[in-house]
This record gives sequence, C-alpha cells and structure tokens, in this order.
Amino acid sequence: MRLSITDRCNLRCTYCMPDGICLLPAKEILTFEEIEEVCRAAVQLGIRRFKITGGEPLVRPGCPELIGKLYRILGAEQVTLTTNGVLLGKYLDQLLKNGLKAVNISLDTLEVDTYRQITGFGELPTVLENIDLAVKAGLKVKINSVLQKGVNDGEWKMLADLAKDRKLDVRFIEMMPIGYGKSCEAVRGSELLSSLQEKYPEIRKDTSEHGNGPAVYYELSDFQGKVGFISAVSHEFCGACNRIRLTADGILKPCLNYAGRVNLRQEMRSGITDQELRYLVKEAIYWKPRRHGFG
Ligand code: SAM
Ligand code: SF4
Repeated sequence: MRLSITDRCNLRCTYCMPDGICLLPAKEILTFEEIEEVCRAAVQLGIRRFKITGGEPLVRPGCPELIGKLYRILGAEQVTLTTNGVLLGKYLDQLLKNGLKAVNISLDTLEVDTYRQITGFGELPTVLENIDLAVKAGLKVKINSVLQKGVNDGEWKMLADLAKDRKLDVRFIEMMPIGYGKSCEAVRGSELLSSLQEKYPEIRKDTSEHGNGPAVYYELSDFQGKVGFISAVSHEFCGACNRIRLTADGILKPCLNYAGRVNLRQEMRSGITDQELRYLVKEAIYWKPRRHGFG
C-alpha cells in the first residue's frame, strides 16, 4: 500500500505540479493516527508492505517517527520511502533510528540547469550529497528517473552510470500520461534498453527477485548496481499489479489512473468500527480496474 502523507512539496516538477499546487485544507489531511489505523486494518487483511510517499513526505513533520510507528504494527514487514532527496540528509539519522532500510530517490538529471528547469529549484548538489550519505549509511537505494524527449533524454548514460560508480540501482520510469505528464514527450523503456544494449553489449536480464514491484532489471559488468525499467505505458503490467494507494486526504485508490470511491477519512471520522474499516479496504480492492487505460 502506497501512503501519500502530504500533498505539499518543496519542489515543483513540471510534469507533476507545474503551476504550483492546490493545497488541501489541513483538516482534510489524515492524521498520523488515522494513517496507522488504516495500516492496522491493511495488515489484518494481509497487506504488509508500505511505501510512504507524497507530495514530498519529508516535508511533513514527524515522517521518520511515522515509519517507526508503522513498523511496530504487529505483522507489518516493510516500510520504505519515496523522496526527492532534498531533506534526506537532514532526517537520515532519525529515519535509520526508526527502522528505514530502503529508500527510492527521484532524480531525473545530473545537470544543474536542467534540474532547475524540471524542478524549479537548485537543489541538485544537496540531492547528490544525500544519495551518497544514504548509500554510505547502508540503506538500499534506488534512483528513479523519468526521461523526457528534448529535456533530459540525452542523460540516460550518465544516469545509468550512477549504478556503476555507486552501490545503488537506477530505474527508468516511463512518463505516464496523467496530469501535465500528458503534454510531455515520454521516452519508452524499449528505446532506452536498445541504447543500453548498444553501449553495453554484455548486458543481461537479471531474473532474481527484486523488491515488490514491476521493474525489470538488467546486469552490466563492472556495475555495482542494476539498471531497471518500469514501463507502465508500453508494457502494461496491470494484471500483476498489487498496489493500492491511500491519498493524503484519505481516499483509497485502487489505481493511479482512477478516482477512488472509498473515502476512509469521512468514514473513520464518523466513527466506524475496526471491522467496518477492514470491510471498506477490501471493498476498495475489489474496485481495482482490469487495466489503467492510458491508451
Ligand atoms: N516527492 C517524492 C518524489 O519525487 O520522489 C514522492 C512523490 S512523487 C509523485 C513520486 C514519483 O512519481 C517521482 O519519482 C516522480 O518522478 C514520479 N512522477 C510524477 N508524475 C509522473 C508522471 N506523470 N509519470 C511518471 N512518473 C511521475
Ligand atoms: Fe514534488 Fe515529487 Fe512531484 Fe517533484 S515529483 S513535484 S518532488 S511530489
């Protein structure tokens, strides 16, 4: 279950939040106690792996402590974090103390100007420093990169090489045609794989188990980490998708591309029982569509 714990962010990536953001009123954001309640119900239904995301999760005060609280739910197996990396150094000790073992860091470019063009801010040096700190601290680090034609597609080799020089994996994620992503020209995973194969003919598919998701990984000689592809658009993997998403305001969404029908915030605040909460979580899962329908 992916848990968005805030709609706030300290960056403004063009494909995600191009015009700034329309902030939800604070009272509509789930409290940490409410998030824990949903996670307890989820664990009782067999959902034991959680990923904390946002907006930018580290801008919400108490994010590291929430990780600790979720780990203390009996039966919870894994709590990971997806972050833009800007505040990772600041909170690293607290995150480690609260049990974090793995982090996904979003980074689309290694060029200062392009970073500013995509995110609106000049935080690239901080993010690079924080990536090294996270690796050094022993966290399992995955870098997630979204490439756009004419913006950062020329950087695929430099980005892939992060996995050569450091003990981390790099995954290329296809731009999804949602929100402003619709107007961006995406780079397909298959195009990138061909470029990689040309540059590194010895590349071979890694069939070992990697995390919980749909990424397909490749091994390259002399690389410390793997290079992966998440090609949701060109290689639809909806049939195998086991994700469910809790939005910051408490809607349980069965798919990124569909509005959720179950508003857990309203239900929890109207005083439902634990059993009713479990029923609603199950109900939302039954609404999971057959496919995302990106076209
Ligand atoms: N702020 C955190 C971060 O950037 O990692 C967590 C939330 S962010 C929405 C999670 C991931 O979604 C980022 O890696 C971002 O690049 C990706 N993302 C946002 N919009 C996207 C789109 N239209 N297509 C593909 N990935 C997208
Ligand atoms: Fe913020 Fe992440 Fe969206 Fe960029 S992708 S604007 S960092 S939430």
